[in-house]
Amino acid sequence: MTVPNRAIRGRVLTFSDDPQTAGAKAHDFIEDGLVVIAEDRIAAVGEASALLGTLPDGVTVDSYPGGLILPGFIDTHIHYPQTQVIASYGAQLLDWLERYALVEEQRFGDSGHAAAVAAFFLDELARNGTTTAAVYCTVHPESAEAFFAESARRNTRMIAGKVLMDRNAPAALQDTAERGYAESKALIEGWHGKGRQLYAVTPRFAITSTEAQLEAAGALLKEHPSCYMQTHLSENRREIETVRTLFPWAENYTAVYDRFGLLGPRALFGHCIHLEDGERRLLSESASVAAFCPTSNLFIGSGLFDRAKAQDPAFPLRVGLATDVGGGTSYSLLRTLAEAYKVLQLQDQNLPALEAFYAITLGNARALGLEGKIGSLAPGREADIVVLDATATPAMAHRRERVETLEEELFLLMTLGDDRAVQATYISGQRQHFQAGDD
Ligand SMILES: [Zn+2]
Repeated sequence: MTVPNRAIRGRVLTFSDDPQTAGAKAHDFIEDGLVVIAEDRIAAVGEASALLGTLPDGVTVDSYPGGLILPGFIDTHIHYPQTQVIASYGAQLLDWLERYALVEEQRFGDSGHAAAVAAFFLDELARNGTTTAAVYCTVHPESAEAFFAESARRNTRMIAGKVLMDRNAPAALQDTAERGYAESKALIEGWHGKGRQLYAVTPRFAITSTEAQLEAAGALLKEHPSCYMQTHLSENRREIETVRTLFPWAENYTAVYDRFGLLGPRALFGHCIHLEDGERRLLSESASVAAFCPTSNLFIGSGLFDRAKAQDPAFPLRVGLATDVGGGTSYSLLRTLAEAYKVLQLQDQNLPALEAFYAITLGNARALGLEGKIGSLAPGREADIVVLDATATPAMAHRRERVETLEEELFLLMTLGDDRAVQATYISGQRQHFQAGDD
């Protein structure tokens, strides 16, 4: 390991397991802690009193008295070309796509536009403490090129892919089975595993791909088994009906993807709201991941994700949490936790604060199979770190006066917090976002 060159001092919280199953030993909290960084990796984590004396001369120590130091947040489903259709009024899924998203996405054949939006998007993620995301680009290979180039420049760990769409979309947004295959293959060869970039084969959803294209997607995954697959599944009733019409041979929606080899431990399925038992079985047995997108599911009126059902021991699902911007209404995973909590409340379920913060750090890293690299503060992990301030707004500071426990502070952060509570974000050991406090 290289020599330490930076350290971050504050109240350190990290997870080594899921608090729901492992209880109190799942998290480590150090009241006056130090995270020592050597270049782009974490070199040590521990009590500041023990570690400060071990630092070589000239190491920068960034101190955040009162700040809460956590692993960078991870978002398992988001669309970077939708930054200018977030907050579009009055439609459910299929109309929302037609009226807003699929109009906006037509701009991304222009590399300059794609590059500018990619830069805005990655700035915005950093401002919100998000250091890794699984990202949809558009059908244009230029959109994925621009995104990966910008992410590589910042050295962020990102998963992304060019969307595959060869029917039921505006002509300007359609590829073909052959072209989509060739363009995806070229992007995989150019970017997958290059630095911190990872590729996801990305059929938008079953409605916009022919069987030939879904087959080509399956072939790409067979040829490149370390790539991800991301798509949408069972978000909205009309969507499900349409899939039934387009694939009359399929027993259910999930069976369409299964037929073409798209399920598996690196497969990310956005939404999964209205699943039948047979679908839960397919997803569970293949160790596929369901991405719960609460702000999107509420905003587009899709339905309530059933976490208890997803944890049914008969067919337990791997679950990630995600914003789904621009169907989702916030880039902030703190805001997303607030809405997740409410979605579960409406179903007599709960989301304790420690489980919530596990979900957006180590939980999502596990959902992506990246827990050996990101999602926790431990020696050898990539140095993606967020610092939170539970007194960021007057209302938060006021409420904070009554907080007595770590759980209460976390619950305050996830209920009232957003980008304003993100004091600093470190990516690959570099501070890429910072807002000075009042003091
Ligand atoms: Zn989506």
